[in-house]
Amino acid sequence: MSKVINASNTREIIQDNLDYTLFSWSKQKGINPIAVKYGKGVYLYDYDGKRYIDFSSGLMNVNIGHGDQRITDAVLKQMQEVSYVTPSCVTEVRGMLGKKLAEICPGDLNKAFFTLCGASSIENAIKVARLHTGRHKILARYQSYHGSSYGAMSAGGDPRRLAADSQQAPNFVHFDIPETYRWEYGDEQLLKESVNQLERIIAFEGPGNIAAILLESESGTSGCLKYPQGYLKHVRRICDEHGILLISDEVMSGFGRTGKWFGFQNHDIIPDMIVMAKGLTCGYLPLGCLMLSDRIAAKYDDAVLPIGLTYSAHPVSCAAALATLQIYENDNLIENAAAMGRYVNEQVVLLREKHPSIGDWRNTGLLGCLELVKNRETKEPLAPFNAQGEDMLVMNKVAAKIKESGMYTFVRWNYIFIAPPLIVTKNEIDEGIAIISEALKIADNSLN
Ligand code: PLP
Repeated sequence: MSKVINASNTREIIQDNLDYTLFSWSKQKGINPIAVKYGKGVYLYDYDGKRYIDFSSGLMNVNIGHGDQRITDAVLKQMQEVSYVTPSCVTEVRGMLGKKLAEICPGDLNKAFFTLCGASSIENAIKVARLHTGRHKILARYQSYHGSSYGAMSAGGDPRRLAADSQQAPNFVHFDIPETYRWEYGDEQLLKESVNQLERIIAFEGPGNIAAILLESESGTSGCLKYPQGYLKHVRRICDEHGILLISDEVMSGFGRTGKWFGFQNHDIIPDMIVMAKGLTCGYLPLGCLMLSDRIAAKYDDAVLPIGLTYSAHPVSCAAALATLQIYENDNLIENAAAMGRYVNEQVVLLREKHPSIGDWRNTGLLGCLELVKNRETKEPLAPFNAQGEDMLVMNKVAAKIKESGMYTFVRWNYIFIAPPLIVTKNEIDEGIAIISEALKIADNSLN
């Protein structure tokens, strides 16, 4: 018989978690997590029955929404047949998933290597790029995130890596792209300056030493920062000129989040490798994938592919992914993401009129965030880059109000993310925007 949960049980559940488990990216004291009992659609429910609208799809991964029975059924069926085979054996679902991904991916991106998560896909992308080119350097952007394992962390330009600064992996070079929001000299100049900077860095580092350029095709946790219009086409051209591989990190921007299957499709380019995770299984089970072009994969027709994981192509995760991909198609979720992204844009126009603390709104489809500022003229952020402690006073209050009002979403520095599951409806968007609007009053009142 299942245990009846009451308020004191809820406290016990939370306390066990606090006493015996560790929380990522947090001071361990003073954490106040939501104890989630179940999820359905765009909502999470705690043990006391309180409902939270999930406006960041977990960590921008639960694209199909919570509690979809079709995934449970697919997983169950696979487990009843076989739960695990070694990666040297095959299953029907592994082949079907590889075939489906090849169908979805453009160009000759036809070969899938299955991993466990975003970081393990990034690690393998870096390794394959180096092996393929015989070069060692990887160029990546400041203000990017590619995962927390050593290679992925060193590749990223996120300040979370600074805590392990002395332990970073070598041969990662970072470059900057000016922020479109704060750039004062026009779009044309922005593009020119950004491309020039990249070309200069490549020249300084020696193009013959550079294996790959690794980029989130649509920026995520760094604040949905926008590329200058046409920038990624130049990156593609530069890569081709120098024999550098282009790796698109689609961990967050992939699988419909931006209104297309992949974020790079908003930029009219095709990369040489795609890194996938999150929306591949929508968090129902862990799975990542590195998609390689036939060109790169062909090298291993007659040579050993020196990568591997015990859980590569895990049958149950593959079954979950296959069912997930069917849901995107059957339920037209990618079209809905594009349409709902446009609807959020309309609502944010109204929100901006009410709230002077909103400085900028950046999104592609349902990958978006509000940037809060102290002053719209100076664009001084309400909390600075990598803000902590006192600097987060106002934003922490805004975040607490959002949670108290029944919303779960990702709030970081002066950013509030709006990235609900792709199943979201207009009514649900209205509900979420109303909660954010209430919380923004705190930010507005803090302005001088
Ligand atoms: N790449 C991007 C763009 C991400 O947003 C993330 C995680 O948020 C990762 C890679 C790392 O994925 P994981 O946490 O599954 O290792």
